[in-house]
Amino acid sequence: MSTQAPESALLRALRERWAEGPGLYRQHVNPGFAELLDLAGFGRRYVRAEGLELEDERGERYLDFTAGYGVHALGHNHPAVRAALHAMLDSGAPGFTQVEASTLTALGAEALAATLPAGLDKVFFCSSGSEAMEAALKLARAATGRRRILGIRRSFHGTTLGVLGLLDAPARRERFGPLLPGLELLQFGDRSVLARALGKRDVAALVVEPVQGEGGCRPQPEGYLAEAARLCREHGALLIVDEVQCGLGRTGRMWAFEHEPGLVPDALATAKALGGGLMPVGALVVRSEVHAQAYGAMRHALDHKTTFSGGPLAMAALHETLRVLRDEGLVENARARGAELSARLAALAARHPSTVSEVRGRGLLQGIRFHDATGGLLGRGLWGKLGDLTAGMFAQHVSLGLLADHHIVTQVGACDLPTLKLTPPLTVTAQAIERVADALDEVLSRGGHAQAVVALAGRLLGARQDRDP
Ligand code: PLP
Repeated sequence: MSTQAPESALLRALRERWAEGPGLYRQHVNPGFAELLDLAGFGRRYVRAEGLELEDERGERYLDFTAGYGVHALGHNHPAVRAALHAMLDSGAPGFTQVEASTLTALGAEALAATLPAGLDKVFFCSSGSEAMEAALKLARAATGRRRILGIRRSFHGTTLGVLGLLDAPARRERFGPLLPGLELLQFGDRSVLARALGKRDVAALVVEPVQGEGGCRPQPEGYLAEAARLCREHGALLIVDEVQCGLGRTGRMWAFEHEPGLVPDALATAKALGGGLMPVGALVVRSEVHAQAYGAMRHALDHKTTFSGGPLAMAALHETLRVLRDEGLVENARARGAELSARLAALAARHPSTVSEVRGRGLLQGIRFHDATGGLLGRGLWGKLGDLTAGMFAQHVSLGLLADHHIVTQVGACDLPTLKLTPPLTVTAQAIERVADALDEVLSRGGHAQAVVALAGRLLGARQDRDP
C-alpha cells in the first residue's frame, strides 16, 4: 500500500496560496461565518491534526474538546481508518454503479446492524445527520400513513427544510417558512404532555435524542424513553432516536438508548463519528417490520434512494471505525473518562456557585451551564431569554479563555448557548481531562468577567447591528 502519492494540484495550491486563505473563504464560501469566528476571537487556522490535537500555522498545539461536533471520536486522522481508505482506493472496487445490489454496501450495513438489537437491520446510508433525519421523517409517514411528528424542545436534528420544523430556534427557522406541516415540539421530559399528544392516535413518530447534544448535553430523564416507547407502541406511533451526536460510544455505551434497559427503538439515525472523522457517512437503521410497511413493496423500492448511498470509501471508513471502537475499547474509555470528567465538573460547580448553574451530561457528552449574569433578575419569558443571552455570552467568554490561554478547543451548545460543551475524542486520556478541568478552574477564578463579557457582546451584537437592514 502506497500512502506517498505525488502532490496534487490542490495541495500545491494550498501550500502556495496559504496566505490568501481567509480572504478566499470570505469570497467563495461563507463571509459571515469567517467574520463571526474573527469577532468571537476564534479565527485561527489549523494546518495539521492528529489524535487529540490540532496544530495551527504557528506550530502551536491545541487539545480538541469539540472533536468537530463529535466527528473525531477516534481522534484526528486515525491511522487504521486512513489505511482502510487507502486500501479501498487501491483495490479499484466499483462504487455508485446504481445497477447492482452492492455486497460492499450490504457488508457495511451488516456491520452496523450487528451493533444494534436484533430486528434493527435495514440500513439506508447517506452522507450526513440531516439526511438521515429526513429519511426518518419520510419513513414515519410512509410506514404509518399518519402526518403528525413530535419532537422535543431544545433538540437539534439538522438544518434541511424538513427537520428545520423540529429546530427549537425561531430565529433560525422563521425566514424559511412555510415549514413542513404537522411537526410539533413537546416540553422536555414531560410524560403527561407526551401521553396527551400521542393519545389522539394520529402521530406518526416521536423523534428524540436520548442525550441532547446541541440542547446542552441533556440526558432524557430516567424512565422517559421507556415510557415513550410504551406509549408509542400503544398508540401506533414510531419511536425514532437521533443518535447522530450521542451515539457510537460517546455516552459510555455503544448507543445512548441502551442506558434505558430493554428499550428497542423503531429506527435510529447516526452520522458524525460513523465515518471515522475522514468520510461523511450517515445512516438510518430501521426495524424490519417498519421498513416492510414503508418500502417493502417493489413499487416503493425507489421511493427513498440517493446517488451516493453506501459507496466504497464510506463503507471502508464505517467498517474500520466500528472495528476500532470495539478493538481499542473506546466505549469503555468513554465511560471511565466520562465519569472522571463529570466528577471534576461537579467539583467545579461547587467551587464556583456564582458562575456555574449546572453540570450535566453522560459519558463524554458533558456540559457546564452558566448563570444569567444578572443573577436571574430578568426572570422568565422574553426577559428570561435576555438572561440566556448574557449567560450565552459568558459561556462564549469562557470558551475563548480556554482557547487563548490554555490552547483548549471547546464550543457552546447551538440550542442552549449558556452551556459550554465538552465532547473530546473517545481516545481522551485522564491527563487531558485533568488539564481541561484545571484550565476551567483558572478561567472561572479570574476577575473582570463582566467587562470581558460586555466587550465580547459589544463586538458581536455591534457587528450584527451594522449588517442588519
Ligand atoms: N442530529 C443531531 C443530534 C445533531 O447533533 C446534528 C448535528 O449537529 C444533526 C442531526 C445534523 O447532522 P449534520 O450536521 O451531519 O447534517
